[in-house]
Amino acid sequence: MNEAEVRKIVESVILHMEGESPERKQKGVFATMEEALEAVQKAYRQFCSYNLEQREKMIDNIRKATLEHAQTLAEMGVKETGMGRVTDKIIKHQLVAEKTPGTEVLQPEAYSGDRGLTLVEQGPYGIIGAITPSTNPSETVLCNSMGMIAAGNGVVFNPHPGAVKTSNYAVDLVNRAILEAGGPENLVCSVEKPTMQTSDVMMKSPAVKMLVATGGPGVVRALLSSGKKAIGAGAGNPPVIVDETADIPKAAKDIVDGASFDNNLPCIAEKECFAVADIADELVHYMTQSGAYLIDSRQMEQMLSFAMVQKDGKYVINKKWVGKDASLFLKEIGVSSDAKLIVCEAPFEHPFVQEELMMPILPVVRVKDFDEAVEKAVAAENGRRHSAHIHSKNVDHLTRFAREVETTIFVKNAPSYAGIGAGGEGYTTFTIAGPTGEGLTCTRSFTRQRRCVMVDGFSII
Ligand code: NAD
Repeated sequence: MNEAEVRKIVESVILHMEGESPERKQKGVFATMEEALEAVQKAYRQFCSYNLEQREKMIDNIRKATLEHAQTLAEMGVKETGMGRVTDKIIKHQLVAEKTPGTEVLQPEAYSGDRGLTLVEQGPYGIIGAITPSTNPSETVLCNSMGMIAAGNGVVFNPHPGAVKTSNYAVDLVNRAILEAGGPENLVCSVEKPTMQTSDVMMKSPAVKMLVATGGPGVVRALLSSGKKAIGAGAGNPPVIVDETADIPKAAKDIVDGASFDNNLPCIAEKECFAVADIADELVHYMTQSGAYLIDSRQMEQMLSFAMVQKDGKYVINKKWVGKDASLFLKEIGVSSDAKLIVCEAPFEHPFVQEELMMPILPVVRVKDFDEAVEKAVAAENGRRHSAHIHSKNVDHLTRFAREVETTIFVKNAPSYAGIGAGGEGYTTFTIAGPTGEGLTCTRSFTRQRRCVMVDGFSII
C-alpha cells in the first residue's frame, strides 16, 4: 500500500468518525462567535508583523492542503449537502489550489516628479467577516481564505448551516497549513453552529472592518445594509445564446458540459438557452449526442410539479431538488437514464427559464432571430449583471450581446466555467461580486489603498 492510499483510508475514517465525535477539536472553530472574534483579533495582531514572503509560504501550504484533500472535501460536500457531483467538486478544488491569486497581484502605484515620490500601496483591511454558500462550501472558504490572507487580513467565517461540517473542515485545513508555515494560530476562524444570530454578531462587531457575502439575494441585501464596507457576490441566472453562425456540434457539447457541471450548482452555469430557429433542432440534436436527455412538454410539466413549488402565486425552486443528479429527476417521471443533463423546449415565460434553478435541467427557448435572442436573454438575466454566454462567429453579435447584457462574466464559444479560469485564461474565484462591482474577487479586492508621500526626496529624474 502506498502513502496516498494510506492517507485516503485515514481521511475516510476521520470523515466517518466526525458524525460520531463532533467534539474533535478543529483548529479555528469555536463554540461562539464572540470566542471566534476574540481569537481572530489576537491572531491578526501577530500577523501584522509577518512579511509578504511569509504570507506567500502560508498560501503555498493552503494550495498543497487543498490538493491533498480535494477528494475528501468533494465527497464531504456532496454527502453533507446532498448536492452536486464528486468528480466535478474535485475539479473545483483543484482550480482553487492552482488558480487563486496570492500576493503577486499586490502591485504598488508610484508618482514621481519635482516634488518627490508618492507611493500607493494596498494594505490589509483588518478582520474580514465572510458568509459562504452551500453550493461551493469548502471551495469558497479556501479561495476566500487565500485571497484574504494574501492581502494581510484575518478572517472569520459564518458558513452556511447546511454545509457547516465541510466548511469547518476547510477552516481547520487552512489553520493547519498556516501553522505549518510558521503563521499564527486562529488566523481564520469559524463557529460550530452558524445561525442568523452568529451572523448578526459578526456583522455588528466593531472588530470586523469588511464584510464579504457569497450567496443569494437575501444575504447580499443584509450585508449591504450593514453600514460597513461590503462585497456582495449574489445570484445569477445566466442565459446562453446560440446563433446561426455558431459551430453547432461544439456549441451543443460546450453547453451540456457547462450546464451539467456539478449539477448546475455554479452561479455562472448556463441556466437557459436561446437558440435561433434556423439551428434550434440541430442544436438540441447535438445536445442529446453530448450527454443530454430530451424531454417533451408533458414531461417538463411533470418535472415542474416537483422541482418547483408555488409561493404567493409564483413558482420558486424546491430546495430538496437543488443540485440533484439528472437521473433522479428522470427516475421521478419514470425514465431510466444516466444522462448528465435534461433539455426541454420551453416558452420564455416558463418558470424553468425565469428562475435560477441550480438543477441539471436546461430549458431551450426557440427565437426567430438574434434580435429576439438578445432581448429575451437580457430579460431572463434580469438585471443581475452576473454571467452570460454566447456561441457565435459573428463579431458584431458577440459585441452587441456583451454590451446589452452588462454581466460581470461573458464567455464566448466555450463552456461557462471558462469564465472562472477552467479551460480559459485568467485566475479563479468562487466569489463573483456583481452587485458591488469588484467582479472576480482576488487578493486586491480585500485591501485598502494607502498613500505614502515623500516630499522633495527620493525622485531621481
Ligand atoms: P443562500 O443565500 O441560501 O446562503 C448563503 C449564505 O448566506 C449562507 O451562509 C446563509 O446562511 C446566509 N444567509 C442567507 N440569508 C441571510 C441573511 N438575511 N442574513 C445573513 N446571512 C444570510 O445561498 P446558497 O443556497 O447556499 O447558495 C446559492 C446561491 O448563492 C445562488 O443564488 C447562487 O447564485 C449564489 N452564489 C453566488 C456566487 C457568486 O460568486 N456570485 C457564488 C456562489 C453562489
